[in-house]
Amino acid sequence: MIKRAAQVKLIDEQGRRVDGRLPDEMRPLRIEVGKLKSADGSAYVELGSNKVIAAVYGPREVVPRHEVIPDRALLRCRYAMLPFSVAERKSPQPTRREIEISKVVREALVPAVFLEEYPRTAIDVYINVLEADGGTRTASIIAAATALADAGIAMRDLVAAVAIGKIGNLLVVDINGVEDQYGDGDMPIAMMPRYGEITLIQADGVFTKEEVKRALELASKHIDEIHRLQIKALKETYAKIEEGE
Ligand code: ADP
Repeated sequence: MIKRAAQVKLIDEQGRRVDGRLPDEMRPLRIEVGKLKSADGSAYVELGSNKVIAAVYGPREVVPRHEVIPDRALLRCRYAMLPFSVAERKSPQPTRREIEISKVVREALVPAVFLEEYPRTAIDVYINVLEADGGTRTASIIAAATALADAGIAMRDLVAAVAIGKIGNLLVVDINGVEDQYGDGDMPIAMMPRYGEITLIQADGVFTKEEVKRALELASKHIDEIHRLQIKALKETYAKIEEGE
């Protein structure tokens, strides 16, 4: 039976969400850097029950050669959800959704990377979602940006992201799968935190001008916190290398 939004209570009498969070509360975020030894850079991100791994290869030779860009690097991103990442097996064939997310993740990262430092090369970012529960594109951006930094790619800043949701007239931070399915809006936002520059904003649902303003304020606050965790994870990896681990 198809459930209708009205049948799913997304906010209880205490103002708590389906997973017990307050509207302004993110799911626990864990970032681990350098999990994949064969990649030039990698990062594993857990955002609630989302599990995402990003691997960066490059700068390296461009294949096929006709894709070479003479004055900068070619940044390629491939986002894929593994067949077991959702309750009902997902076909391994790239879906339209995965092609769209690959494109928007790439666009969210491009402003942060000094592509002109690496002419005639390719930088490939592979993102695999091991488990999905709403917000995989924002978790992917967090993982990919951290993996690029781990690969030693010159960057203006990291990129961090969070999705703001709408339940009735209430804005909530970091929507999960159920909220995404039965809520009234989803606005993924990515920023270069040091510059406060937005590199991605999408909206599914109807947001008033005032709601967009508040969503950006909310996102910005949480993006600063995510940025701190990205830097902490990167620093911890290099501290371990110095200790000879
Ligand atoms: P995001 O993961 O960035 O929120 P969407 O809004 O497109 O992207 O997807 C929301 C959620 O819907 C995903 O995180 C995932 O939990 C679920 N989902 C997406 N594709 C599928 C699928 N093919 N089968 C089952 N669930 C899916």
